[in-house]
Amino acid sequence: RIAAVDGDAGGGVHAFLHVAAEQALAAAAAVDADRARGAELGPLAGVPIGVKDVLTTRGMPTTCGSRILEGWVPPYDATVVRQLRAAGLVVVGKTNMDEFAMGSTTEHSAFGPTRNPWDLERIPGGSGGGSAAALAAFEVPLTVGSDTGGSIRQPAAVTGTVGVKPTYGGVSRYGLVAMASSLDQAGPCGRTVLDTALLHEVMAGHDPYDSTSLPGEVPALAAAAREGARGGLAGVRVGVVRELGGEGYQAGVRARFDEAVALLTEAGADVVEVSCPNLVHALPAYYLIMPSEASSNLAKYDGMRYGLRVVPGGDGVTAEQVMAATRAAGFGEEVKRRIILGTYALSAGYYDAYYGSAQKVRTLVQRDFAAAFGQVDVLVSPTAPTTAYRLGEKLDDPLAMYAGDVATIPANLAGIPGMSLPVGLAEEDGLPVGLQVLAPVREDARLYRVGAALE
Ligand code: GLN
Repeated sequence: RIAAVDGDAGGGVHAFLHVAAEQALAAAAAVDADRARGAELGPLAGVPIGVKDVLTTRGMPTTCGSRILEGWVPPYDATVVRQLRAAGLVVVGKTNMDEFAMGSTTEHSAFGPTRNPWDLERIPGGSGGGSAAALAAFEVPLTVGSDTGGSIRQPAAVTGTVGVKPTYGGVSRYGLVAMASSLDQAGPCGRTVLDTALLHEVMAGHDPYDSTSLPGEVPALAAAAREGARGGLAGVRVGVVRELGGEGYQAGVRARFDEAVALLTEAGADVVEVSCPNLVHALPAYYLIMPSEASSNLAKYDGMRYGLRVVPGGDGVTAEQVMAATRAAGFGEEVKRRIILGTYALSAGYYDAYYGSAQKVRTLVQRDFAAAFGQVDVLVSPTAPTTAYRLGEKLDDPLAMYAGDVATIPANLAGIPGMSLPVGLAEEDGLPVGLQVLAPVREDARLYRVGAALE
């Protein structure tokens, strides 16, 4: 299937950067052998899966969509990848993404964009557009993504698939190449809520290799999905976030969202409107905090440790010159833009005004959610203000692209879990619309219960 649709001959979805056919066949054979031996296998044993190229995979390239890591093969598996393999999932390959997960379209991938299977001229979302498009094009039934400001949920929305950003710390970040460490979260993507829950259960759990990993048991997520599908939502209190969904949201997105809210009521939920007034400041705060952390995290790409090394000609070349030449050639425009923004926001004299203020806004966003979750069990909003736009449409206007993250970013600032699930097609363009469900920290199970009731 990947051979049929991913390459230029088959339409050029280009969801995969690397297909590991031989390793996948060997892993599948090992599961078969276990089964033949009568070994007890988990529900996902033998299921093929694609992994976003931001997670390290032993013996398989990991580029983060960047030239600076081209040719680098990690010597270790990310904890998430180790968990997948232990559960018998077959890692088929690495999926395309915006360089270092910076973007909302995959157009910032150094290896060319992914196309949306619904319309090949449109964006599949980003940064995890490869993981979402691979699902929408039936290339694999499950994928792994990462979400710093929406990179799992927004691609899910614009491709008509399901994606979950777990509670911060609920899934290990060990081996998840860092963009903004206090926001980054790996998570599951699937075609149905139950599939996604089963994958989430495989990925969840405490990891001593990640200092921000939460202790405690893996939550019962598949059971919550089954409960929602069977039993409806009697007694569940749902809050519609007033600040997310009004002006600036496409008419067809709003129409499908309103319908989904009516379905929640029909399923037995008590739906009320809830205000989170500080959410309007979340977007600018994110675009200070995220580049600040990224500028620090990306300092390790110095031309010495990983991947690319560019040595300028001439005698007496210094380490600084190698570093500068490597970064000039190895980083794309968007990555350079964010490093410059971040170092500026962190520099002496500006730190308090920019980074300090943004951190205060982050606290206000957390308080808004805490107050809202005092009244309701989950919050809902559209996942993204528009359906998939055309490739190239926002490439030269970074601020317009950033604005599309308005509904997804608050969850990352607060560390709360969020899901996007499909709720139909917009009338004006026939493209998928996503509904976002948010829950309090460690209450990921609520997402699955509500999501499954709507499916
Ligand atoms: N689109 C957002 C950004 O460009 C989110 C990225 C992400 O979640 N990795 O930063």
